[in-house]
Amino acid sequence: MPKKTIKRSWAEPFKIKVVEPIKMTTRAYREKAAKEAGYNTFLLKSEDVYIDLLTDSGTNAMSDYQWAGMMLGDEAYAGSKNFYYLWDNIKKYYGMPYFVPTHQGRAAEHMVSKILIKPNNVVPGNMYFTTTREHIELAGGKFVDVIIDQAHNPQNTHPFKGNININKLEDLIKKVGAKNIPYVFMAGPVNMAGGQPFSMKNLKEVSALLKKHGIKLWFDATRAVENAYYIKLREKGYEKKSIEQILKEICSHFDGLWVSAKKDLMVNIGGIFATRDKRVYEEARNMVVVYEGLHTYGGLAGRDMEAMARGMEEMVQFDNIKARIGQVEYCGKQLEKYNIPLVYPFGGHAIFLDAKKFLPHLKQDVFPAQTLAAEIFIDSGVRGMERGIVSAGRDPNTGKHRYPKLELVRLTFPRRVYTQAHIDVTVESIAQVYEDRKKIKGLKMVYEPKHLRFFQARFKKIS
Ligand SMILES: *Cc1c(COP(=O)(O)O)cnc(C)c1O
Repeated sequence: MPKKTIKRSWAEPFKIKVVEPIKMTTRAYREKAAKEAGYNTFLLKSEDVYIDLLTDSGTNAMSDYQWAGMMLGDEAYAGSKNFYYLWDNIKKYYGMPYFVPTHQGRAAEHMVSKILIKPNNVVPGNMYFTTTREHIELAGGKFVDVIIDQAHNPQNTHPFKGNININKLEDLIKKVGAKNIPYVFMAGPVNMAGGQPFSMKNLKEVSALLKKHGIKLWFDATRAVENAYYIKLREKGYEKKSIEQILKEICSHFDGLWVSAKKDLMVNIGGIFATRDKRVYEEARNMVVVYEGLHTYGGLAGRDMEAMARGMEEMVQFDNIKARIGQVEYCGKQLEKYNIPLVYPFGGHAIFLDAKKFLPHLKQDVFPAQTLAAEIFIDSGVRGMERGIVSAGRDPNTGKHRYPKLELVRLTFPRRVYTQAHIDVTVESIAQVYEDRKKIKGLKMVYEPKHLRFFQARFKKIS
């Protein structure tokens, strides 16, 4: 009889076959690089970055199965066999009968917004996402946030902070009238809230309320597999269900969905527009020809669609998603050891540093999260991104900054790319910046683009 059972760690369910060397730089080199990039991590050259946690979008490592599929691209202009294989998998995993490929998620958002929204319509959702809201506004609509209040509090540990507040939604419907709400959207996990999932229970309640009022429900399914994983872990009755079953059940409550394939599907490019509404599908199929390409490729090469179809088969494997979320959690737990202020619970794709608490001496006008992301890069070459006042943009009516409650730096983990040792180095660098935080003074914006300013805005250090 063994005396005691040793706790077993998990490890990645894959091994490394190809490596990509990364450049090691000095602090002086990074100071210069940061200045040249206007202290915006989006404007850095990727070769100057040591560990790249800017985003998990399109930065994933594909499997040998996916790479093998890349050689099977049917690059016909029309009717590529990769398209039909992908379509079959969309029916199988998302349960949607109709599908149009797009080059990215935002192209699908563009079509959904343009087809469904009329001027002055209101589109409620569980917190905004940058590109989603931009497309709603460009189509003449107005986004209204109906997420539960807990989502705006980074210390609140509610297990489903991505939930919609049913009362808020119902009040809104009463106030503006169901006929002025073309659809409600739900994203899961909610990126801007720190990667927080919604529960199946909440989804069912939202769906029932909207059915009563004849309002459609659309799904930003970009990270739906992560949401399914959290439902399996945290919601009663789902412990024994597979990720595949839960994903299918989630999707069954929606009229349509869009996906940035650059996330869950572990590819470098691609997007999905899918629906069970034939009329909306017909319009999208027609519109895609103008903006993306023929409806059987939608701006993608045949090989890209093959990699997406294969990635879909891998994304629902339990060990895969467990390792992905396990790595994010590991980073969070290590940061806790240095008392770094974080958003709770840890997100599915990213750890969020609470910049307001990290740099309490800085006012939101001097861009604490933007500053912190730049300082971490200068310290170690680790690249994160701002998710605060810069990302929130200006109110289109008043022209003033929006002041979001959350002022965060996001460290996002590309799937299957970095090792535990990379995470350790990242944590040590953030701990060092935290030690030196009192010296940090903030930034001044010196260039501001009109749309999605966080991508291209430039800053100067305040001296
Ligand atoms: C990335 C993302 C998008 C936009 O997709 P792109 O492929 O970058 O155009 C939309 N919604 C969510 C939740 C995302 O994470």
